[in-house]
Amino acid sequence: TNHLCGLLARHAVLTPDHVFARRPDLPDITYRALFEGAERMARALADLGLQPGDRVAVQVDKSIEAIQLYIGTVLAGGIFLPLNTAYTDPEVAYFLGDATPRVVVCDPARQSGIAALTPASCLTLAADGTGTLTEALPADPGFEAVPRAETDLAAILYTSGTTGRSKGAMLSHGNLASNAETLREYWRFTRDDVLIHALPIFHTHGLFVATNVALLAGASTVFLPRFDPDAILDAMPGATAMMGVPTFYTRLLNDDRLAPELAANMRLFISGSAPMLVDTHEKWLARTGHRVLERYGMTETNMSTSNPYEGERRMGTVGFPLPGVELRIMQDGAEVPEGDIGVIEVRGPNVFQGYWQMPEKTAEELKADGWFITGDLATRDAEGYVTIVGRAKDLIISGGFNVYPKEIEEIVDDLPGVVESAVIGLPHPDFGEAVVAVVVGDVTAEEIGEALSGRLAKFKQPKRVFVVPELPRNTMGKVQKKALRDEYAGLFA
Ligand code: ATP
Ligand code: MG
Repeated sequence: TNHLCGLLARHAVLTPDHVFARRPDLPDITYRALFEGAERMARALADLGLQPGDRVAVQVDKSIEAIQLYIGTVLAGGIFLPLNTAYTDPEVAYFLGDATPRVVVCDPARQSGIAALTPASCLTLAADGTGTLTEALPADPGFEAVPRAETDLAAILYTSGTTGRSKGAMLSHGNLASNAETLREYWRFTRDDVLIHALPIFHTHGLFVATNVALLAGASTVFLPRFDPDAILDAMPGATAMMGVPTFYTRLLNDDRLAPELAANMRLFISGSAPMLVDTHEKWLARTGHRVLERYGMTETNMSTSNPYEGERRMGTVGFPLPGVELRIMQDGAEVPEGDIGVIEVRGPNVFQGYWQMPEKTAEELKADGWFITGDLATRDAEGYVTIVGRAKDLIISGGFNVYPKEIEEIVDDLPGVVESAVIGLPHPDFGEAVVAVVVGDVTAEEIGEALSGRLAKFKQPKRVFVVPELPRNTMGKVQKKALRDEYAGLFA
């Protein structure tokens, strides 16, 4: 079957008594209970008048009921549209105006504000699973999945908004089902796995990578409402796998309890959504005995590349294109020679159906022959490992020369006392853009300037260095270079 729910529901039939979610201080949820709840959600949505193709916009805290709402929406033929819980009412207003959902589900505390923004039915779901949505659920489960084709949409997921306004990526049943199946196999997930699930479920990483892969494998999860180092370290001895963003790993490294014995039962640590520093990879290996498996993907493509499960996981790279995914590195309309930098393009069953209500942008980035222009810069070495060099939008052109921020960041990060850095380009009257480094660490701007002067060509050397307490990051741990550029915009004006 190509219906995503056919795949997601497989283990509710095969192993209904197996535990899907272990929750600290709360009862376990079996696969049967998970899907019965999802069927009730589907029934409640259908009773609200949800028609195939209607959007269900959801801004709620992470809970089992929220997962059931996701599956229930897809069962009912709807399109699931999760929203970051950090978005304020004016931000939510943009998404609701753009996506015109039939049903909106939000936190009870937000109900009066959000209901005023939309003509949709507005129900509530609290972190503890209570709310008007739960009250509307029928007593009896049972719901026949509304038939959908492989190209019909199952979700619209808005991008993280790192480079500009978030875009709604239209993801079909086939996109989600094929990628989850590929990842399950590539990363060897089975029903014996216990996955530490501490990621938010409004983003592709926590929803489609972690949740779908666990469901397709019939695995168990340790289902945590948020990233909490104590809860993760408590769970680790009884778990087999974890998926996290790089900040999960750096924060766990700060905890003295992290040691090989604690991770002895673990078989796999996966990282993605933002680049992981080689330093973090090395420290994790030293502290746990495990090599983090880094992969690369985006909202529009699900996952596109991964380091191998059995072969060498090469730090600082994102590995190889996944089975079924084609990848090429392009510049000026042609593939670059090995080792050169270009823009990643991908093609395959993972690639989305276009941006919601943005036909021009879709036509620019998703070509008729199926290639999607990711906007990420990368190189590929002789063995085929792909290394992300940054985003095309973050490339600095100073005095006519291309400056790749990552080259400078790597040198700065290696200096004594430096924790991390972000190199950005700022408008400059003479150079077009000027290189500026924003650095976190026990170090001075002068020390950094001196250390770089002998090591980098003049045009790459930062014109200014700022030492700051921390870099601006979003909930997925992505450094917000746009926010930094805005902050320092007038520096050379
Ligand atoms: P927007 O598209 O709205 O500007 P965004 O690109 O950050 O936001 P996402 O789709 O959440 O939104 O993130 C995908 C991006 O994250 C990729 O294009 C890539 O730049 C980055 N990324 C993901 N995994 C990795 C990785 N392992 N290493 C480096 N970068 C990564
Ligand atoms: Mg993007």
